[in-house]
Amino acid sequence: MKKPQQKVGLAAPGLASGLQYFEDRRDQIIQTVRQLVEIESPSDNKEAVDRLGSFLAGKFERLGGHAKLHRTQGCGDHLQVDFPGKSAGKPVMLLGHLDTVYPLGTLSAMPFRVADGRMWGPGSFDMKSGIAFILHAIEALRHWHGDELPRPMTVLLVSDEEVGSDASRHVTESLARKSAAVLVLEPAFGPKGAVKTARKGVGEYVLKVRGKAAHSGLDFEEGESAIIELARQILELSKLTDLKRGITLNVGTVQGGTRSNVIPAEASAVLDARVARIKDAAGLDRRLQSLKPFNRKCKLEITGGLNRPPLERTPAVAALYQKASDIAKQLGWKLEEAAVGGGSDGNFTAALGIPTLDGLGAVGEGAHATHESVLISELPRRAALLSALIEMV
Ligand SMILES: [Zn+2]
Repeated sequence: MKKPQQKVGLAAPGLASGLQYFEDRRDQIIQTVRQLVEIESPSDNKEAVDRLGSFLAGKFERLGGHAKLHRTQGCGDHLQVDFPGKSAGKPVMLLGHLDTVYPLGTLSAMPFRVADGRMWGPGSFDMKSGIAFILHAIEALRHWHGDELPRPMTVLLVSDEEVGSDASRHVTESLARKSAAVLVLEPAFGPKGAVKTARKGVGEYVLKVRGKAAHSGLDFEEGESAIIELARQILELSKLTDLKRGITLNVGTVQGGTRSNVIPAEASAVLDARVARIKDAAGLDRRLQSLKPFNRKCKLEITGGLNRPPLERTPAVAALYQKASDIAKQLGWKLEEAAVGGGSDGNFTAALGIPTLDGLGAVGEGAHATHESVLISELPRRAALLSALIEMV
């Protein structure tokens, strides 16, 4: 085989033959994804998530890693795997999640299958293919470097990403602080597989209105309608959306009242708030906290806040994207970048100032939906990109 050019300094085996290595192992990657999809792991089922966590701990240990389960009550244990490397220095962190949004038993209606150039199944795209890439990249790097890794690595797969990462955030942040960079194996964006260099910060608020109940026929004027008050507040809230600045506020659910002939004493709404820049978060929070009732006889109560800070396209994030983009170019394709509205655990690590690149996982579509699927033709080059990035960041 002709020796490929090594423009970006990959020790062995060179980018083009690295890609060939994964082309040759495409079916093995598919088999790994199949294994992972067939161990269902809904966020709310600790036993199920733990089953996947132990299965993966075994796989990573066979690749030379030291697995540690962060025991967690109420949701699955988070899996941390540390790998020593030839070189000294900080590890690169590979970040992902074990959990899916699909309830146990989904697999019987939506089994893993390969058809039309795609892999289908619950969690195939978000993000069991990403976990498979981590496994195969580590295997490849060991293969190329005499059963050792070229550098230390830390893998963290949390159990609660799909439900907000409350239980794992501190683990993610403490490992990120010790890492040189964080590579997030969440799904890529769009049909071209863009990586994500910006994600919005996400918050949730509950607005409760208390009015005064009364018979709508006998004592109409005695009542203070919480629903009317809430309706007026919702119109006010919609004015906080500023698409140009990347600020959105969505009143996602409303509730209120008891019967048609009762002036409603209570009403509430759940709001989803998103910001593209952390400096907009405090202002938005202040405006929400200082809402005043239109009807002074109604009381407002607002609770909640930002769960995830935004992942902003800082110079560190842009530089990491540039590296990935250079590697992709040498592998023969143009790696695009995208800014998206959804958050991930990469938001936490980027907010700490650690260079973070998200969306390095599979190319596909239908996350969280019945048509969730992954493009098979893209598997080798995503795995090749990941393994090259691990060496070069
Ligand atoms: Zn995900």
